[in-house]
Amino acid sequence: MDQSLHRDQVELSGAGEASGGALSGASGDAQASGRPFLMVTFTCAGAYQRVYRSLDGTHYMARCPKCAKTMRFVVGAGGTGQRAFQVSC
Ligand SMILES: [Zn+2]
Repeated sequence: MDQSLHRDQVELSGAGEASGGALSGASGDAQASGRPFLMVTFTCAGAYQRVYRSLDGTHYMARCPKCAKTMRFVVGAGGTGQRAFQVSC
């Protein structure tokens, strides 16, 4: 079992993080094992995705497979321990 997963406090920040669709290193990142992730459901696409934490540990970045909108979950002390989110976009 993966006991190293610890809960991050995250906040959803939908403030226009439009990054031109540049998906940086999503496939070249082989060391996903052991990294914490969030479970995000995009309601507009009806799609569920695992979103892994960024390498620097400051945020999670989710991207809707249908409309390509990116949602950023910021890791911070004031956030929630929730691990599953629904994003309507
Ligand atoms: Zn969408």
